[in-house]
Amino acid sequence: MKLYLASGNAHKAGEFQELAAASALPVEIVSACAIGGMPAVVEDAGTFTGNALLKARALHARLPAGSWALADDSGLCVDALDGAPGVESAYYAGPEGDGAANLQKLVRTMQGTPAGRRGAHFVCVLMLIDPTGHAREFTGRVHGRLCEEPSGGAGFGYDPLFVPAGHGLTFAEMPEAEKNRLSHRARAWSELVAWLRSAGHG
Ligand code: IMP
Repeated sequence: MKLYLASGNAHKAGEFQELAAASALPVEIVSACAIGGMPAVVEDAGTFTGNALLKARALHARLPAGSWALADDSGLCVDALDGAPGVESAYYAGPEGDGAANLQKLVRTMQGTPAGRRGAHFVCVLMLIDPTGHAREFTGRVHGRLCEEPSGGAGFGYDPLFVPAGHGLTFAEMPEAEKNRLSHRARAWSELVAWLRSAGHG
């Protein structure tokens, strides 16, 4: 079974491909690039769920009849910033969506915040649209804290600043397989896998 992924982010597509391979389901993740690219979507719903639905519907409308579409909307919610950057995570430092600039802005914003107030969590909402057009939502979260200086070269986005609870390394310092075991995306994915199995698709 093919799941068309509503994302132009090559790193995310790679993470989903790893997750799919590890779950031993007969599922192939196909990047939107394979059908000419992800249609432009203004992500203005104001919630992870709403944005994921916008992306999933936009892609589903472009797919051959009978296809499955999968979209993810995700972000980092920082306790001391009342949940910011949240749904604005990709555009925190400006509309260009520059990941390095976003990271630097968060480092500066959090400067001087004491260790006890550096809690944060990543959220991932997956929206799956079945061949009939019915949408289902699966959510994953991972809690942790922000360190003071970015560390590590793996991953993307805010990974160099985020240390998951119970661990001593940032997501960007961990082997990819370790991040993929712990992450918000992995947790949402395992909910989706459980549903696919229960519905007889795996
Ligand atoms: P989206 O593509 O609209 O879901 O934007 C998600 C944004 O949240 C990304 O551009 C990153 O800034 C951030 N983000 C989401 N997931 C991760 C992750 O696993 N690591 C680091 N940053 C992430």
